[in-house]
Amino acid sequence: MTAILWLRRDLRRRDLPALGAAHEAGPVVPVFVLDPSLWEGAGPARRAWLAATLEATRDAWDGHLVLRAGDPREVIPALVRETGASAVHVSRETTPAGRRRDAAVARALDGDGVAWAETGTPYAVGPGVVRNGEGNPFQVFTPFSRAWREHGWPAPAAEPAGLRLASAPGDDAAWEEVRAAAGAEGVPALPGAGEEAALARWEWFREEALEDYGELRDRPDLDAVSRLSPYLKLGVLHPRTLLADLTGRDGKGRARFEAELAWREFYADVLFHNPDSLWQDLKPGLGGLAYDEPDTDAVAAWQAGETGYPIVDAGMRQLLAEGWMHNRVRMITASFLTKDLHVWWPVGARYFLAHLIDGDVASNNHGWQWVAGTGTDAAPYFRVFNPVTQGLRFDPEGDYVRRWIPELRHLRGAAAHEPWKDARGYDSGYPERIVDHAAERTEALERYQRARR
Ligand SMILES: Cc1cc2nc3c(=O)[nH]c(=O)nc-3n(C[C@H](O)[C@H](O)[C@H](O)COP(=O)(O)OP(=O)(O)OC[C@H]3O[C@@H](n4cnc5c(N)ncnc54)[C@H](O)[C@@H]3O)c2cc1C
Repeated sequence: MTAILWLRRDLRRRDLPALGAAHEAGPVVPVFVLDPSLWEGAGPARRAWLAATLEATRDAWDGHLVLRAGDPREVIPALVRETGASAVHVSRETTPAGRRRDAAVARALDGDGVAWAETGTPYAVGPGVVRNGEGNPFQVFTPFSRAWREHGWPAPAAEPAGLRLASAPGDDAAWEEVRAAAGAEGVPALPGAGEEAALARWEWFREEALEDYGELRDRPDLDAVSRLSPYLKLGVLHPRTLLADLTGRDGKGRARFEAELAWREFYADVLFHNPDSLWQDLKPGLGGLAYDEPDTDAVAAWQAGETGYPIVDAGMRQLLAEGWMHNRVRMITASFLTKDLHVWWPVGARYFLAHLIDGDVASNNHGWQWVAGTGTDAAPYFRVFNPVTQGLRFDPEGDYVRRWIPELRHLRGAAAHEPWKDARGYDSGYPERIVDHAAERTEALERYQRARR
């Protein structure tokens, strides 16, 4: 009997356990559903990235990938009826919206007597699995990561021998929409899409940058991090593949890289156990904090990279230009919005999600909560990032800032971080600072004290 393999956050062919499970039933029809509720809310960069990845996935599946547009609760049962499939196979979804959607699809299929099978997740260890000695979820990263490592993960899944792929009529209009989105005007320069490009980047990183990753991962001016997040987001690569490749290597770089993958798993676990933390403070302690309105010129300046603080503006411009931002700069820009502009973190989290090609609700929203001081393992609220000293420390020659801000290119070295100290600092039209960081830091701390009282 035919089996449907519904791909979502697993747009790959290698190391895909759900494929092995589907193959046991008979010929496999791989399908992707372009869900308007997700597609229409995505910004142009996110759409273009998904579109380019879908085109690469179709090639990887020898043209068999079926694309249909619509609500999966209707599209999947309809495809099952068309193909006479006996089962629908997926990688288990773990986000609140994904779980709700899957439960509804599974219920609809159950009514028709069709099996629903979940095999694997987008994580090395499925969210919800790692528990402490009492069987409870972890609240803090370090013990989670220790238990996660001890739990371990299976070896990468091989492609099943004798795999037979089947197909079904695709939706030409949906492919047309995908083609248009991939080539749309004004879309940022994106990385190469698909498994081959992802593996090539991984190989480069592993051989050329991993060793120094521990020392250099905070430097946005250097090509020192993997930039694999957009591939991990869509499941073009599975973290298990990366972890298996690291076996037998030692060194600080490897340990640090594994720890970063563990953060991704930790945040997915936290969200799994606390679905409300998606858009609400995880820790209620700062519930009384006073926030400013989000629809202000200051927030618009933050979004456009026009705050007058070079490292903040460079990051926000990188986000618009590439759909990606360096981790250190995500922390600095998030701190600026929450502590200098006193805006509640979901405002920034939504903006990031609209633009990031790696936009992932668990890592993004919990990354924001970490900075805002409301999340698990959060930085204490009173630790406010100073955008000037952060810039000087992590972009010591000013190269990152000059790369993204043409108006500062006439300043040499670290001077690009403090145009106000140079007589020619504003000669090329760079904006003045929209707020005084020292004053806003004091204001943030006063609000914090009032909220605690
Ligand atoms: C405010 C804020 C928002 C963020 N939004 C996202 C997001 O939407 N999607 C996303 O994937 N990451 C997000 N992160 C985490 C981190 O910034 C990115 O994962 C990282 O910058 C991606 O670049 P990279 O692949 O080169 O990372 P590397 O440094 O090479 O790390 C390897 C992988 O480890 C994981 N990782 C690394 N750091 C973190 C972290 N702090 N939290 C969770 N996972 C991590 C990612 O999967 C990453 O691809 C956010 C962090 C902050 C502070």
